[in-house]
Amino acid sequence: MPARWNTDNRPPSLTEFTARFPTDDACAAYLEACRWPDGFACPGCGSCRGWKLQTKRWTWECHDCGRQTSVTAGTVMHGSKVPLRTWFLAAHLLATHSNGMSALQLQAKLNLGSYKTAWLLLHKLRRAMVAPDRTPLSGDVEVDETTIPYRTKDEPIAGGQGRSQIGKIAVIGAVELLEGNRPGRIRLEVVPDYKGPTLKGFVERNVRRGSHIWTDDNKSYYGLQGYGHTPRVIGKMAAHVLMPWIHRVFANMKRWGLGVFHGFRDKYLNAYLNEFVFRWNRRQSYRSAFERLVGIGIAMAPATYADIRATAV
Ligand SMILES: [Zn+2]
Repeated sequence: MPARWNTDNRPPSLTEFTARFPTDDACAAYLEACRWPDGFACPGCGSCRGWKLQTKRWTWECHDCGRQTSVTAGTVMHGSKVPLRTWFLAAHLLATHSNGMSALQLQAKLNLGSYKTAWLLLHKLRRAMVAPDRTPLSGDVEVDETTIPYRTKDEPIAGGQGRSQIGKIAVIGAVELLEGNRPGRIRLEVVPDYKGPTLKGFVERNVRRGSHIWTDDNKSYYGLQGYGHTPRVIGKMAAHVLMPWIHRVFANMKRWGLGVFHGFRDKYLNAYLNEFVFRWNRRQSYRSAFERLVGIGIAMAPATYADIRATAV
């Protein structure tokens, strides 16, 4: 694996980070500078005339249309009772920690009052990990499927050994192959089955047309339109020899699930997969990871507890 951080992108230490963001106001000033580098611009009418309200924190009012805009509008932090500085610290920890963390660990690190607050914070940050406009994978792309054992609420991992589907979730993954036999970006998704339309749908959503797909000899991929395709007949050859990178991705992801969460929970598996994908794809860029997490420049509807429950697998 390449070094996790190249020197230009090395993340600040916790000490440097807290010195840079000592207060909620410092965080708001950072958001404001990122959002409006050339001064306020109204997202409603585009006017550049406006003023900062004295009575409402970190909020601007447009001179022309009267619309009020908070520096947190469109970010995961909007409308939250959790202080901005806590959000920033959580985003920093998630962006720097190579393994991420559980809600319990975050609660302890940030000295949060309740487990639920820590849990919600993490889930909202996970939602911010998927950019709505992210570009599809391209070039040569390995695609394969795997199953993940899961556990229910407080039980140990269900599913047991062998090929039983009970207590296991089907997952499909893809990884770009870069020059020099290096892995590029990845995608992972929970899927209901391994049938043709499901697997082809995943490829179409996640890989640019015209790219070349490498799969095993699973017939479900046959007939993909708009892609080059090389099915490899694996036969007696171990799959990880012919498809080394996607198998490494799967192996790392499963080890991560066991290490950090003591086994994935079935309901939120897609959210965990998103976190894994996010971390992998930004493993060498602290800045892009941190900015993505605090939601800079990207309009994303704030999520409530109900939204997060509703998008659970
Ligand atoms: Zn306006």
